[in-house]
Amino acid sequence: MPTPDHRAMLETAIAEARQGLAEGGIPIGAALYRNDGTLLGRGRNRRVQEGDPSVHGETDAFRKAGRQRRYRDTIMVTTLSPCWYCSGLVRQFGIGTVVMGESVNFHGGHDWLRQHGVNVVDLRDPGCIAMLGDWIAANPEVWNEDIGED
Ligand SMILES: [Zn+2]
Repeated sequence: MPTPDHRAMLETAIAEARQGLAEGGIPIGAALYRNDGTLLGRGRNRRVQEGDPSVHGETDAFRKAGRQRRYRDTIMVTTLSPCWYCSGLVRQFGIGTVVMGESVNFHGGHDWLRQHGVNVVDLRDPGCIAMLGDWIAANPEVWNEDIGED
């Protein structure tokens, strides 16, 4: 099996983040792929758009993927290090790989995921860092609400 193209998969998550930004939301996107490159689901943070704090990029992509018989050979691709809520989802369902665009603007649960055998890849993408960093600088209150800070 060829090595999954993590960069190409990240582009799907970035497109979702950009769409969220255009909607006035928090620019974080995600996608769930199978190792063979099949796209199962894609989504974005819609806290602002839907007034729903449980719709993170990862949970949205996960739900859009529908029922899957197995997750070990799936890849959760996200523009940002996954928060505890989404890291819990990865462990709960045994998702084998997490590919993240960056972990500069937020350091979530990816170390914990690594410790528990999840293959974690940080692509350190400058575009992801800039997109969310600029948004946080302009919207600090919404950001603190999203990450549960006072
Ligand atoms: Zn999350």
